Amino acid sequence: MTMTATLDPRPSVALARRALASSFRRRGLGTPELDARLLVAHALGLDHAALVAQAARALSAGESAAIAALAARRLAREPVARIVGVKEFWDLSFSLNGATLVPRPETETVVEAALDALDRSQVRDGALALADLGTGSGALLLALLSELPKARGFGTDVSPQALHCARENAIALGLAERACFLACDYGAALKGPFDLIVSNPPYVARRDIAALAPEVRVFDPALALDGGPDGLDGYRAIAASAPQLLSRKGVLVLELGIGQLDEVERLLAAAGLLPIGSPRHDLLGIVRSLAVTRPP
Ligand code: GLN
Repeated sequence: MTMTATLDPRPSVALARRALASSFRRRGLGTPELDARLLVAHALGLDHAALVAQAARALSAGESAAIAALAARRLAREPVARIVGVKEFWDLSFSLNGATLVPRPETETVVEAALDALDRSQVRDGALALADLGTGSGALLLALLSELPKARGFGTDVSPQALHCARENAIALGLAERACFLACDYGAALKGPFDLIVSNPPYVARRDIAALAPEVRVFDPALALDGGPDGLDGYRAIAASAPQLLSRKGVLVLELGIGQLDEVERLLAAAGLLPIGSPRHDLLGIVRSLAVTRPP
């Protein structure tokens, strides 16, 4: 009797991928196939095309072990973006570390609202001054700089580790000459005037943190989530400093937590900042970002 390749006891790339997906599905993870594909590709150092091309290839023992180690992390609810260390945002690739939030697709509504406001006042091509308060991985500031070729901007964060990550991302994206990162609370160390200020502040009410998905509660930094007793502490800090930091026609665009529109609008109105345009909704229909400016 002759042995054939089909009796090779080592699992193939495709089999490993299917096995991972079904264990993720059994554990109730939201996107089992996608997670399995990304983790197998990461463990093997392959892109999507190579993963497909090598589907029938048998895995070495080392490769199987590497895949199993990543699968165990995902089953412990670590997000794929943290395991692979990068996340796409606004079609740009952002490295992450333990002090940065994983950039969320809904945060792209802040970029959209900001670009929209600049278009409406016809200043998009100008030498704009930007600020991103609580920049984390730098996602908002760098996405904006990628769209605004003459703009320069500051990103602030209270975490030096987050600022390190943002700086590295600015370098990797070729935007470092126009981005400056500094350690402070929101806009405390900044001097205006800024044409555009953006922020995705921590906005989860403290008592709600325990109910968040483990991917968020355990793996996102508490500093980037905890918005104080009512979730609005970040907005209060921003409302207190934004009026002095904005140029006369400057625009402030904020990400909002679920159901926070009315209260945030009130806080900003008390600081003399009024909405422009309508608030933007994310793909789930949640009101996600708000743009305000000084009345004429
Ligand atoms: N969007 C995050 C969440 O998943 C919260 C981030 C924040 O507080 N800005 O709840």
